Amino acid sequence: MRQQDPNRRDVIIIGSGPAGLAAAIYAGRAGLDTLILTGMFIGGQAATTDRIENYPGFPKGISGNELTDLMLKQAERFGAQVVNDQVTEVDLLTHPFGVKTASAQYESKALIIATGASPRKLGVPGEEEFIGRGVSFCATCDGFFYQDKTVIVVGGGNSAVEEALFLTKFASKVYIVHRRDRLRADDILQKRVGGNERIELVWDSTVTQILGDAQVSGVHLKNLKTGQVSTLTADGIFVYIGNVANTQLFAGQIELDEQGYVITDARQRTSINGVFAAGDVQERILQQVVTACSTGARASVEAEKFIAELEDRAYPGFSIEY
Ligand code: NAP
Repeated sequence: MRQQDPNRRDVIIIGSGPAGLAAAIYAGRAGLDTLILTGMFIGGQAATTDRIENYPGFPKGISGNELTDLMLKQAERFGAQVVNDQVTEVDLLTHPFGVKTASAQYESKALIIATGASPRKLGVPGEEEFIGRGVSFCATCDGFFYQDKTVIVVGGGNSAVEEALFLTKFASKVYIVHRRDRLRADDILQKRVGGNERIELVWDSTVTQILGDAQVSGVHLKNLKTGQVSTLTADGIFVYIGNVANTQLFAGQIELDEQGYVITDARQRTSINGVFAAGDVQERILQQVVTACSTGARASVEAEKFIAELEDRAYPGFSIEY
């Protein structure tokens, strides 16, 4: 159901991780004229995950890239239009909402924010300088370059531990540097680390500087209990210390919490009527593919209701009361 104006849609979904793709499947299937603006990489962070073992329906696990690719095909099958473009500006304060990309301008009756989250950076000297020269935030993308080398993974959560395990396929030695003396990661992952002789844990420590010349050669560490400073030699450093919500585009227009996540209610509604959010951009408790999909589905169903109500009222105007 294409509208007269090619740049006006029923619903625009910003972001193509599992939340955005699930939203597109539901919106397309509901017969809404749906556009998904994918951002730089289709599939979001999930697509860079080597193996997803806890998404229902795949008892042997599935690669993140394969899973998001299947979701994309499913969204297209239900009629969602997929455009590889980066949103540069949104106007959520007038209705229909305005969405601008580098190459086009769109309007939509409802909007779903599914921009996800990006890796948090350490913020230490050398980090920016050595990105692409030994500093990485994606083991799936870069692990291959560390055959028989030594790498450091920073962090103690599920991502750090999963990616450290993945890196042992290539690297001969993987240090996990964690700021406490207990991992945050799930037990099943901790057990796998315990059983892997290529992994060594460095407890109670933070990286204070990344060292190198043309390439990373190691890091300075500080032991937070003893204050002792040391140097650890390595060829690469993989940073997995959590995520930061991608909400810069919406700041000043919708309500964000103190950590920058979009505030939503139980129906994925944001502080603006007709704007919904799904996935990691609004999820602080359980950032998983399964929760991203469920919130994406819910956001679409709510967008559909919102549009139906607007049309029943014959577009009587727009109110941002909440
Ligand atoms: P996370 O669970 O927030 O863990 C971040 C880790 O980094 C924590 O161990 C934290 O230390 C450490 N950290 C935070 N800031 C730091 C800093 N400035 N310097 C040094 N260390 C720092 O993040 P995540 O592992 O990226 O996971 C994000 C979400 O995705 C979580 O909900 C996670 O469960 C989920 N996830 C799930 C799976 C899975 O189910 N298989 C896989 C990947 C991710 P503390 O422990 O001391 O706080």
